Amino acid sequence: MSSLAIHPSVDGGVQAGKSGFAGGTLSCKCKDNPVKVKLDGDVAFNHVCGCTKCWKPDGSLFSMVAVISRDKLKVTENAQKLKIVDPSAVIQRYACTGCGVHMYGRIEKKDHPFFGLDFVHTELSSEKGWAAPEFAAFVSSIIESGAKPDNMGAVRARLTELKLAPYDCLSPPLMDAISTHVAKSKGLLAA
Ligand SMILES: [Zn+2]
Ligand SMILES: [Zn+2]
Repeated sequence: MSSLAIHPSVDGGVQAGKSGFAGGTLSCKCKDNPVKVKLDGDVAFNHVCGCTKCWKPDGSLFSMVAVISRDKLKVTENAQKLKIVDPSAVIQRYACTGCGVHMYGRIEKKDHPFFGLDFVHTELSSEKGWAAPEFAAFVSSIIESGAKPDNMGAVRARLTELKLAPYDCLSPPLMDAISTHVAKSKGLLAA
């Protein structure tokens, strides 16, 4: 097995999700009074992400992040510990002020292609069966977090071995969704 630590949830092999999975509860890393976020259903577009903004565990090259409809997400305990990391960012990431873990990211711009979806990390749940990661996004960006450029061939090879196709932006279906949104807003496609 590769010694490259992509992310703890995939380093031992990607675990398949369960169809019809009902969701679960995300818990931050605080021993006392953890923040809890209930997800009422499974996530979609789960992937590992190399960007510098997503929360990732220590020693991991990538984060693992997915989306869920914002009406299916509810903070159920210790909401007072949450603070927006960067209020000027498009995705408002709510982090625990105790342990630093990001509990969810939310887009408030109504014209954004992903408005209505919240970003979450299913590894914070003890339930098994979440939709599995499907691809790797923003792979080149790990260099901006200190990964060695010379090692990128090995990183991409390992992602391919894990069947997490490496992309330097989002996956083709998500890039197509963004461009479709733009074309509709320009009146080039029927809404
Ligand atoms: Zn915490
Ligand atoms: Zn990211």
